[in-house]
Amino acid sequence: MRVPYGDGWALVGDAGMHQDPWSGRGIDMAAVHAAILADELAPALAGDASVADALLRYHERRDEHGLELWRQTVALADDLSQLTA
Ligand SMILES: Cc1cc2nc3c(=O)[nH]c(=O)nc-3n(C[C@H](O)[C@H](O)[C@H](O)COP(=O)(O)OP(=O)(O)OC[C@H]3O[C@@H](n4cnc5c(N)ncnc54)[C@H](O)[C@@H]3O)c2cc1C
Repeated sequence: MRVPYGDGWALVGDAGMHQDPWSGRGIDMAAVHAAILADELAPALAGDASVADALLRYHERRDEHGLELWRQTVALADDLSQLTA
């Protein structure tokens, strides 16, 4: 898990929120997080908002979308036999 932005850069998908593949949600996560980033950056790149604020909102929205699932995935990945119990 990484803070997904800095000065002039942002991370989407596994680069920012990597998890065990068992949950089968990595592709969806990467696509949704890329869409959130684009949604937040578009007004900033048009000059209607600050890029720094856009990246901060991207971080917040990425975590709102994915953090709980990431926690569950990481917790269960320690012992996948729980899935077949
Ligand atoms: C075995 C396995 C099974 C999985 N099964 C599922 C599944 O059923 N369903 C699901 O949703 N997800 C699954 N996933 C997870 C899913 O594959 C990933 O979460 C998803 O591909 C992440 O997309 P991404 O674009 O963030 O990263 P990636 O798909 O890894 O794309 C990153 C790309 O960047 C390239 N790259 C890296 N470094 C550089 C560089 N320096 N310069 C240029 N290019 C670079 C890489 O070659 C790669 O093509 C599985 C993963 C694994 C390993």
